[in-house]
Amino acid sequence: MTTKFQDLGISENLMKAIKKMGFEEATPIQAQTIPLGLQGKDIIGQAQTGTGKTAAFGLPLTEKIDSDSQSIQGIIIAPTRELAIQVSEELYKIAYYKRARVLPIYGGQDINRQIRALKKNPHIIVGTPGRLLDHINRRTLKLSTVHTVVLDEADEMLNMGFIEDIEAILSNVPEEHQTLLFSATMPDPIRRIAERFMKDPELVKVKAKEVTVPNIQQFYIDIQEKKKFDVLTRLLDSQSPELAIIFGRTKRRVDELSEALTLRGYAAEGIHGDLSQARRMSALRKFKDGSIEVLVATDVAARGLDISGVTHVYNFDVPQDPESYVHRIGRTGRAGKNGMAMTFVTPREMDILKNIERTTKRKMDRMKPPTLDEALESQQTVTLEKLRSAMESDNLAFYTKAAEQLLEEFDSETIIAAAIKLMTKEPNQAPVRLTEEAPAPFKKGGGGYRGKRDGGNYNQRSGKKTGGHSRPYDKNRSSSQQRRKKQYSSQ
Ligand code: ADP
Ligand code: MG
Repeated sequence: MTTKFQDLGISENLMKAIKKMGFEEATPIQAQTIPLGLQGKDIIGQAQTGTGKTAAFGLPLTEKIDSDSQSIQGIIIAPTRELAIQVSEELYKIAYYKRARVLPIYGGQDINRQIRALKKNPHIIVGTPGRLLDHINRRTLKLSTVHTVVLDEADEMLNMGFIEDIEAILSNVPEEHQTLLFSATMPDPIRRIAERFMKDPELVKVKAKEVTVPNIQQFYIDIQEKKKFDVLTRLLDSQSPELAIIFGRTKRRVDELSEALTLRGYAAEGIHGDLSQARRMSALRKFKDGSIEVLVATDVAARGLDISGVTHVYNFDVPQDPESYVHRIGRTGRAGKNGMAMTFVTPREMDILKNIERTTKRKMDRMKPPTLDEALESQQTVTLEKLRSAMESDNLAFYTKAAEQLLEEFDSETIIAAAIKLMTKEPNQAPVRLTEEAPAPFKKGGGGYRGKRDGGNYNQRSGKKTGGHSRPYDKNRSSSQQRRKKQYSSQ
């Protein structure tokens, strides 16, 4: 069953925008939520990452905006700056012909610049909780004319301890308003929040298995912790991904992995919550424009980011629960394209793998890690393909003279072998250092409240911000698990 946007009751200006954005059909979450949103209902929308939730709330919200009025009418709250920017970019496109003005407001950006922008009468604000509150307290942002509130990635905001901030923001919105809450997962605390903040919300849920896995090939690799890095590089060499994301469990892991990959000659960068916004944005930009081929990320840093063209996902560390797994692999295989996901599992983590398989109702295939020779062979294949296409398409006249000269001195086989060797990326054996990670703790049932996977200054038990020096999650574990620095021998 496919649904056309025309059939959802969308007006002409927005139809024009949808067409320009290249959307042909509504996704299931859009088809089910847009009509309800247009009716003014409160909605709880649950669907995986990459299913088009932004337009699912963006279209009905924009439809309700009166562009002739000079007041703020809609407010979208998102957990991170990157998401706020991403959502505002999508809203900008949706609202383009309707001439509704969208303004992103997030921490790390010059506040005076934001104050000036706020004075230009935006209609829709997309912001992170902290900075929104900051403006409310400075009285540079008034929400007394807001009629629609969107909570995007609500589960993530809960994990990050933003609930009180959100409550404070909402207390500035008039009693009579529509609330749209979107989330990839729906743990109990979110349901309770929904009950508190919303009026007879309609629950729209698109099941994970309908949208995530069909075009993603999923493999697991049964591996010892200390062999992971060499196997990762062989996989990268033999699979030659166009764009790959590697997931690590902790911030330290991400730092060490991106350094180690760089040392071995891969164009890699890492993103996690402790890096400055500028660093994260620059890494993302480079990844999107292809100037780096590998992005290393924690779950939280990669959450919800819309990155297209990812061909391979490597779970260097097994995800802590099935929901994170689905999110991670959802970074690939988008828009009908094929994707591949490889998950490293140490012997003690097999239960976690089984639990993931039970939840996704999909068995992963076991993949044998490529040997060094196999990796080299695949690299040669890549070289041969390049040579073939050069022979077919490039003008070689300029080089034939040199070729003739060489052929007078050597036999053709030797010359070609040397050329292939020069063009083939041989495994780089530069020694790297990686701190061993303890196996992931197995949590029965998965899902629910996951604590703070990205480490950082959040109190794990209460999920509240502690504002400073609480010990990061991974360090807490390391003290009891005796982790040693180990020199990785390359073979
Ligand atoms: P989510 O918030 O569910 O993770 P997004 O709203 O970020 O998903 O959408 C993911 C990608 O899919 C974006 O690039 C978006 O432009 C695109 N997209 C959304 N809806 C459609 C649609 N109906 N047809 C084609 N692409 C779409
Ligand atoms: Mg989203």
